[in-house]
Amino acid sequence: MNPKIWLSSPHMGGGEFEFVKEAFDTNWIAPLGPHVNGFEQDLQSFTGAKHAAALSSGTAALHLALIMLGIGPGDDVICQSFTFSASANPIAYQGANPVFIDSEPETWNMSPELLEQAIQDGIANGKKAKAIIPVHLYGMPAKMEQISAIAAKYGIPVIEDAAEALGSTINGKPAGTFGLMGILSFNGNKIITTSGGGALISDSADLIDKARFLATQARDAAPHYQHSQIGYNYRMSNVCAGIGRGQMQVLGERIAQRRKVYDYYVENLSDISGIRFLPEPAGAFSNRWLTTIIVDPAKTRGITREDIRLSLVSENIESRPLWKPMHLQPVFSGALSYVNGVSEDLFNNGLCLPSGSNLSSADLERVVKNVKSLCAKTIPNEA
Ligand SMILES: *Cc1c(COP(=O)(O)O)cnc(C)c1O
Repeated sequence: MNPKIWLSSPHMGGGEFEFVKEAFDTNWIAPLGPHVNGFEQDLQSFTGAKHAAALSSGTAALHLALIMLGIGPGDDVICQSFTFSASANPIAYQGANPVFIDSEPETWNMSPELLEQAIQDGIANGKKAKAIIPVHLYGMPAKMEQISAIAAKYGIPVIEDAAEALGSTINGKPAGTFGLMGILSFNGNKIITTSGGGALISDSADLIDKARFLATQARDAAPHYQHSQIGYNYRMSNVCAGIGRGQMQVLGERIAQRRKVYDYYVENLSDISGIRFLPEPAGAFSNRWLTTIIVDPAKTRGITREDIRLSLVSENIESRPLWKPMHLQPVFSGALSYVNGVSEDLFNNGLCLPSGSNLSSADLERVVKNVKSLCAKTIPNEA
């Protein structure tokens, strides 16, 4: 059997171990310490956000953001439907109701038109949404200029889910810095990883201070343990932050490598009729966290995304269907949603190809060869 090719696996740069060793040598084995502070500074300088809090996960970051906006039972929170469930779960943690918004076809992210319609309907029903959560899926930035303008028009705060988009920009401005707050993830499959972890970024010192306070069990200033609010255990460990500091040294390289993977697939698979990619709209720069293809069986002579996935599995190559939209998930079946069919279509026909920055050219050739030979099989007249 050929060695396994993963969809997106961790890729250490080498410097991480020095930072982790330093944590051990200085005995900072705790959810605080110099690496936590250093990693936060690294994130601030990279994103240009004025403040950052390193946390245990991206999900925790989003949860804290909702708590700080005072979102509670019965409130409406608008969320992109085409995403990973972690974008929506914290809404449910707060007892609030997600309102799901379908995608526009250019970036596959939140449709500004449907967003405005949902806001207006909510207002007409006497219930204005309390927050908007757009997502930069697969690293492709959402239409933040339009979304921000709509949010500002109705005075609704935006929390950007930039978990997949560290390093992506719109006209040079980093994803995650358009909203009141942005969340990042450093889970094992993301463009850089701390094994598990996340961050909340914002230009507001008050919000980030508050996030750190809530993330460390909401301890009041007192010599004993004094609490006047419910707290959480959401801080990042100093050991994990050490990994993060090492990863930040190679983030630029990782983005370039992921983009090269995308370019390679485009170069080698674009001539197969029925396979298309997601190009960057003008002004958008994607970190290309995952390369995705859309398969049109009407043009591939019947070959579906699932045929390609299974053919890759038989060669020990991992690929995965695109995210199943939240409005189609059983757990959110009761939620209000604004649907145009775009994300359902993407889910039905889309596939994420192996996209790790550590894939060798031989790995990439194996993937391309497999897809090409499968698609060639259905062309009987090709001599
Ligand atoms: C990974 C991810 C998250 C959650 O991050 P964790 O660190 O795994 O909690 C949130 N949203 C999206 C879109 C993600 O891909």
